[in-house]
Order: sequence, then structure tokens, then C-alpha cells
Amino acid sequence: RKREDVDVEALQQAVAALDAKADHTSFDSLPLSEPTKAGLKSAHFTTLTDIQRRAIPLALKGCDILGAAKTGSGKTLAFLVPVLENLYRAQCVGADAGLGAMIVSPTRELAIQIFEVLKKVGRKGHLFAAGLIIGGKSLQEERDGLARMNIVVCTPGRILQHLSQTAGFNVDSLQMLVLDEADRILDMGFQRDVDAIIEYLPQDRQTVLFSATQTKRVADLARLSLRDPEYISVHEAA
Ligand code: ADP
Ligand code: MG
Repeated sequence: RKREDVDVEALQQAVAALDAKADHTSFDSLPLSEPTKAGLKSAHFTTLTDIQRRAIPLALKGCDILGAAKTGSGKTLAFLVPVLENLYRAQCVGADAGLGAMIVSPTRELAIQIFEVLKKVGRKGHLFAAGLIIGGKSLQEERDGLARMNIVVCTPGRILQHLSQTAGFNVDSLQMLVLDEADRILDMGFQRDVDAIIEYLPQDRQTVLFSATQTKRVADLARLSLRDPEYISVHEAA
């Protein structure tokens, strides 16, 4: 067997054995792939923030998550590390593997920020293909890129346009859906778009929903999109 296969198997076993409720303070103490560890290190991320401590172990183990934590608390890595790792362990990497993860963001600017962090943490040896679908390019150009992506960072309206109009845009292999800034997605009037996106996706997937605030509408969206979620709410120390 290839060395890489052995590494992946060892990682799968380590994640299965991981105690998600234990307190993990450093990225080094988590069962992460070498490329992710190297990427985090090169970006100088060593200690987990509170939301990352609570969310990452559970997300690595495949749980659905409803997470609330204020702006600036580190929610981006709380979902990007599990996205990278869960696809890596599933070997959902490369042009033939298909789309493994969809990250939905309310605005183009926030999607670009997420993509920049993904590139930074993913640059040390990860082989996945990632891209942005946020408009600004022709649909045809986006379509060509989309066909090769393992991870897409997108805005709701534009990805829905592809889901409904692009023949051959196949999401059967999707394993993870991330809804970032869900409260803002809903404030901006994207509820129906998100509902429609979810209709296109495989039901057998992991969904991670993050929000800065907990509102009735977020709870409604959570009911529609999550299965038996872990609730994580991180408040500022008083
Ligand atoms: P949120 O999405 O919750 O608003 P971000 O994910 O944008 O927060 O992170 C806010 C800031 O904190 C960013 O500048 C990011 O680089 C930094 N950050 C996130 N996680 C860590 C960490 N584990 N160690 C150090 N800095 C971090
Ligand atoms: Mg954020």
C-alpha cells in the first residue's frame, strides 16, 4: 500500500478515537493531517479559540453543528479545518472526486475572505481544488471551474443559479454544507434561495451552520437543514 493510504487510515482511527468533549487547546493535540498541520503552522495558528475548541472536534467526527459566536471569535477556521480534514480522510480530492464541500456566505466580500483563509491553510501540500462562485465572471467561466472543484465557496443566489441552470453540475458527492453568517444570509433575504439550495443537495451529508446571533429565523433554518445538531454557543466572559 501507498504510504499515503496508511496515513489516512491512521488518521481515520485517531478521529474515531477522539474524545470530542475533551478540551483541546492546541491544533497539535488534534488528529489532523500533515498538510493541515503545516498550513496552520505556516499561518501562525497554534492555539484554538473557544468556538474552535468546541466545534472542531465534533465537526471532525461528522456531527452537524449549530454554532453561535460573535464576530471575530474565529468561526472561519472552526469550519475550514473540518472541511479540509473530512475531505482529506474521505480522499475526496482531485478532478474525479467531485464536489465534496459547499460553503455558503452572505456576501462576495466575505466569500473572498473565507477563500483567502482556505488558500492560506491549504497551501502546504493539500491537493484539493477550491474555487469561488460569487458572480463577477461569466456563468460559462464559472461552470468550467465548478466542474473540477472539490470545495466551493459561494454566495446563495449565484450557486442556486448553477444548481438550477447548469446541466451536469453534479452534487451527488457532496459531504459537507457550511452556512456561514446564517443570520446575515437571512437578513439579506436569501431564505428562499437557501431552502432551494438544500433541496438540491444529498440528504446524507454533514451540515455546519454558524451565526453571530441566535434568532428565530436561524432556528427555523437550522430545523430545515441540520440533523440532530450539537448546539454550541460561546459567549464573552462577563
Ligand atoms: P469570525 O468569523 O468569528 O468573525 P474569523 O474567523 O474571521 O472570525 O477570525 C477573526 C480573526 O481571528 C482573524 O483575524 C483570524 O485570523 C484570527 N484567528 C482565528 N482563529 C485564530 C487562532 N486559532 N489563533 C489566532 N488567531 C486566530
Ligand atoms: Mg466569519
